Amino acid sequence: DLVKDEDLNVLGDLGAGNGGTVTKVWNKKRNCIMARKESLPRELKIFRKQIIRELQIMNDCSSPYIVEYYGCFPVDVHVGIVMEYMDAGSLDHIYRRNGAIPIQMVGKVAEAVLKGLMYLYDVHRIIHRDIKPSNILANTAGDIKICDFGVSGELINSIANTFVGTSTYMSPERIQGAPYTIKSDVWSLGISLVELALGRFPFSDSPDDEDESELELDPDATLPLNSARPKLKPKNSGEGKSAGVSLAGGGHSMSILDLLQHIVNEPAPRLEKKGRTYPPEAAAFVEGCLHKDPATRKSPQELLVSFPQVDLAAADALKASDWITKSSVTKDDLKAWTKSVTQAE
Ligand code: ADP
Ligand code: MG
Repeated sequence: DLVKDEDLNVLGDLGAGNGGTVTKVWNKKRNCIMARKESLPRELKIFRKQIIRELQIMNDCSSPYIVEYYGCFPVDVHVGIVMEYMDAGSLDHIYRRNGAIPIQMVGKVAEAVLKGLMYLYDVHRIIHRDIKPSNILANTAGDIKICDFGVSGELINSIANTFVGTSTYMSPERIQGAPYTIKSDVWSLGISLVELALGRFPFSDSPDDEDESELELDPDATLPLNSARPKLKPKNSGEGKSAGVSLAGGGHSMSILDLLQHIVNEPAPRLEKKGRTYPPEAAAFVEGCLHKDPATRKSPQELLVSFPQVDLAAADALKASDWITKSSVTKDDLKAWTKSVTQAE
């Protein structure tokens, strides 16, 4: 039985993103808390019926790594989507409040996201298309799940890149117009993992205190193209608000076009921070996600499964999947961690 809007009482706000707002709601009929997202920009209202039909696909999804879906309905020009409430919230909220996420927990995030991606692809032939820390949610039962996937392939193609398009987590080949593949999601996962481990968006142009070397403040050093245009603007200058993207933790903003050019032209970010060391298997995993050429970038399977080593000379070499297959973090550890970051609120 799908949830209806009249079953719901609003409890409070959970957050707002590009496409709408998410509220915490009480379901009177089932006596439990849920999350309701009001989604999709007004331009899409003509497609609303089609969207609602296609959203039914979400109803067929059943995986411990996918946020559960309970129903949807029109709310004036929007579509209301009711889903499972994740009480530890999204990973971007968690690291902004508590600082960088412990690297072993980031490894469990990687595993959950990859398993979610493989489920969507293998069972439903869906590519997520919007992997980023705010679409990875945690709860105090120790689950990590992904939400907000591109169910509507047809629809997304027909509206091209206007609304699902531009994101700072987008892969270099997507920025250059190549079609979406599951490997584009792997890139976005790599960027997200670096962000969670460093505690800031990896393309930030304003390095954090203990790390002054990463991307230098001299804009021309990191963004060689279009040097005629100013690249760094004071964050609160007011002008260019809509064209500029505010980078997490930074005191400056880079225009989205400059950032996209940077992603295409510069080496991919790495798991590196001054004064900190990360396990080599974590660095190898992230590197496997962030090959700029999708042909050599690892697939979800290669990142999850420890294939037997055929090449004996390479038998000692680190495999990208080692971080996952050799992890000793348990579900109880995840529970304890999500509880600790939730209590810090
Ligand atoms: P975005 O993902 O771009 O931040 P959304 O509108 O999808 O924008 O979500 C806004 C915020 O609402 C997210 O950042 C997240 O913190 C919160 N949120 C979304 N879905 C849920 C959910 N099911 N349970 C708890 N919090 C959620
Ligand atoms: Mg979202």
